[in-house]
Amino acid sequence: MKIATLSSYTDKPLADCTDLELFNALLSLVADATRERGYNQGKKRLYYISAEFLIGKLLSNNLINLGLYDSVRDELAACGRDLSALEEMELEPSLGNGGLGRLAACFLDSCATLGLPADGIGLAYHCGLFRQNFADNRQCESPDYWLRWGQDSWLRRTSRHFRVSFGGFDVTSTLYEIDVTGYEGKSGKLRLFDVDSADERVIHSGISFDKDDVTKNLTLFLYPDDSDDAGRLLRVYQEYFMVSNGAQLILDECQARGSNLHDLADYAAIQINDTHPTMVIPELIRLLGEHGIAFDEAVSIARDVCAYTNHTILAEALETWPKHFIEQVAPQLIPIIDQLDKLVRDSCEDPFVQVIDEHGNVHMANIDIHFSHSVNGVAALHTKILEDVELAPFYKLYPEKFNNKTNGITFRRWCIECNPELAGLITQTIGDDWKHDATRLEDLLAHQDDDGLLDQLSKIKRHNKERFAAWLRAHQGTEVDPDAIFDVQSKRLHEYKRQQLNLLWATNTYLQVKAGKLPERKVCMLFGAKAAPAYTIAKDIIHAIICLGKVVAADPVASQYLQVVMIENYNVTAAERLIPAADVSEQISLASKEASGTSNMKFMLNGALTLGTMDGANVEIAELVGKGNIYTFGEGSDEVIARYQRGDYDPRSYYEGDERLKEAVDFLRGPQMLEVGNAESLERLTEELLGKDWFMTFPDFDSYLTEKARVLNDVADQHSWQRKALVNIAKAGFFSSDRTIEQYNRDIWHLGVDSSRGCE
Ligand SMILES: *Cc1c(COP(=O)(O)O)cnc(C)c1O
Repeated sequence: MKIATLSSYTDKPLADCTDLELFNALLSLVADATRERGYNQGKKRLYYISAEFLIGKLLSNNLINLGLYDSVRDELAACGRDLSALEEMELEPSLGNGGLGRLAACFLDSCATLGLPADGIGLAYHCGLFRQNFADNRQCESPDYWLRWGQDSWLRRTSRHFRVSFGGFDVTSTLYEIDVTGYEGKSGKLRLFDVDSADERVIHSGISFDKDDVTKNLTLFLYPDDSDDAGRLLRVYQEYFMVSNGAQLILDECQARGSNLHDLADYAAIQINDTHPTMVIPELIRLLGEHGIAFDEAVSIARDVCAYTNHTILAEALETWPKHFIEQVAPQLIPIIDQLDKLVRDSCEDPFVQVIDEHGNVHMANIDIHFSHSVNGVAALHTKILEDVELAPFYKLYPEKFNNKTNGITFRRWCIECNPELAGLITQTIGDDWKHDATRLEDLLAHQDDDGLLDQLSKIKRHNKERFAAWLRAHQGTEVDPDAIFDVQSKRLHEYKRQQLNLLWATNTYLQVKAGKLPERKVCMLFGAKAAPAYTIAKDIIHAIICLGKVVAADPVASQYLQVVMIENYNVTAAERLIPAADVSEQISLASKEASGTSNMKFMLNGALTLGTMDGANVEIAELVGKGNIYTFGEGSDEVIARYQRGDYDPRSYYEGDERLKEAVDFLRGPQMLEVGNAESLERLTEELLGKDWFMTFPDFDSYLTEKARVLNDVADQHSWQRKALVNIAKAGFFSSDRTIEQYNRDIWHLGVDSSRGCE
């Protein structure tokens, strides 16, 4: 590789450059190095369409993947400059929300690394989801202007433009691209569309904006508030904008590569990530029609090209849109959707599987399942629940379409980059091969009795806790004690993920301390979570966690044993600091509700032990590491599903039957909490738990307390704890997204690997 030094990208000595000048020089260096290595090519290309890509900062990731990290760091250090300071000034792209978007980002990394010709397709949101800060112990939202600073960023404007027709008006769009570097390989691209008429001046205050002027607000925010019709309609506009641009781009490119469109499936695979991009199916059929292809053939082409990933079994998250919304947004799709509906009706009477229901709602997942050739769940248990329960009528129709692809994470970002000391120790112990073949981590199992190694693991954990403590101090001015056990639950705030169960544990622990039962070691509970702005109870839970944190901190005795911290604006950057510092990984969703989870995999890889329910990929983690190396509790998915079916859950009976639970729940709206918190919010949360508790925290309360006591007791014996951690690291290889992507390609996409060398 003939990449020049960083100094050849500046017109003065590095020592004299501003941080911004250095950062811009790094952007150019990375862009040139990426171009020089080349992009993965092939006749058939994957287009991974997704409403979100939670890609995280890119500077260190790209330098590592391009093999430039050490040389750039050393070159900077030689002039008294610090690469990590430049990493700090990069703003995290705000293009995603949670696990689904992070998965899309890991998948692009793995595709590039494995040499698969693949691009992501999405939207270039100006302000992303939102930036979270806390005021009055509550979540406040503001626009996340991730593109605000400087002229330069990873986002590259192209000269490609498209026209998208909405009912009554047209807009033009511009294609932007972000390079996705593969690890020691070639690259792919993330291709993002923006509407040319976007205008940030329609934002009023916070994240509220004029919802009616679609030409201006279309690409400002990810998941605009859908609590009213204007917001819901806007989401449909966004979805159609994304897929219409995407479909036009795909057809253009495939034709340029030689497709006559009849053979489109030899040139393109489209993976539909959750239901947001569903309209790509009717849009493709429509565009193929414009190219003279008859409807029936177009349907069959679309089916051969498209595959659908289901991410949730929560009924409320399977999108349905009133047909008149789609009629308003994209009237040209209505005849197509009507014909698709008729195709289904003609062959099947079951109302459950219809495209349009009797209320005139269009079921997006149903379109995906009928008119794609593959339907996958994201963990073994999840896929089984889809087949046996949630989508059973579809499984009967199309057993051959259903398949499982257990999620994964890229080990480049989630170990090599975020935990360099651990990565170094692994390499020192078993060599370098694990970086390309994660299953080689199992070689660590031969070292389980190496006391020196276990000792090193312990030291690295301690060092990561100190690093995190320093970051948190700078980030939000909160002090945490690295001597405490770091017990972490970080993920989107949702009732099914049950942060409220953890809150009840913390409340119980506080009450125990007040009653004189002092724990052996201090526990620092670290939460990171954003709540959807219109999700009231989720915000109530955040409020209660912050309030409890204040109550505990104000108590001179309790604060020696317990700390409750809510991390502001949890995102990939925070996760990269937090996860390597975790001792305990809280994965406590109600069994059957978490499709997979991926943070469970990140924690495991970074040597934290899982305290979890038998849900999502936790089940596969438990199988891999064995009973002695994971802490599980709570009811199983069969019990939970049966209880929902019986419909006889009564939270009050548990509340009345367990004094500890009663005290904890009562405390939430008791005088101490009311002194720091908001009465309406605390009252609402307590009533929700007592009157509904839809995600059944109370039945698992007792077993959670028991198992968590065991975990916290076991940490004390660092030797046996670190041996368990070592087994977790060794067994994490299965959860590399390289494995997941190889399975997608083998079973669904059938892309050729680009093994030609770049222009090195
Ligand atoms: C991995 C990740 C998630 C997903 O977490 P789950 O526990 O799988 O829901 C969410 N947010 C960020 C920032 C992540 O890195």
